[in-house]
Amino acid sequence: MMEERSAGAVIFSVDSSMNVNFLLLQHSAGHWDFAKGNIEHGENESQAAFREIREETGIETVHFFEGFSGKVEYYYRRERNLVHKEVVFFLAKSDSQKVILSNEHIGYSWCDFDNSLAKLTYKSAKEVLMQAQNFLKSTYLK
Ligand code: ATP
Repeated sequence: MMEERSAGAVIFSVDSSMNVNFLLLQHSAGHWDFAKGNIEHGENESQAAFREIREETGIETVHFFEGFSGKVEYYYRRERNLVHKEVVFFLAKSDSQKVILSNEHIGYSWCDFDNSLAKLTYKSAKEVLMQAQNFLKSTYLK
């Protein structure tokens, strides 16, 4: 079986009233997910996540929150092959809401927690969002 490893981030921004909005991207295949992509040779997970954030959202400045990582695992079919994929998500705060998409995505949305939960396509991504929200509530948003 083919193995694939990606890294990405739950990106959020905070407005002056401390409302948190999460950045979701719509993949050209249709599903809504966080920014992520394959880990390249010589990169560690956070370097890959940082590069993917830049490539997929145009956001250059993010603050990574130490102590958070969410893991997702799934299988999908690529042509005839079954691929086992593991993705690690970091938590990253952006001061800017300006997004420049790559050609991998067809849309983006900054959404509050409830709308993000509804919009994310896969249950495993929804679980990472819930973990991120809990982490923010118990640390940053206190
Ligand atoms: P990457 O964003 O890591 O570069 P990619 O563009 O190849 O990867 P994925 O988002 O991993 O795309 O999608 C590959 C396949 O897996 C698609 O069929 C997609 O619908 C499916 N998929 C994506 N995320 C999940 C998930 N959390 N659970 C189950 N299936 C998923």
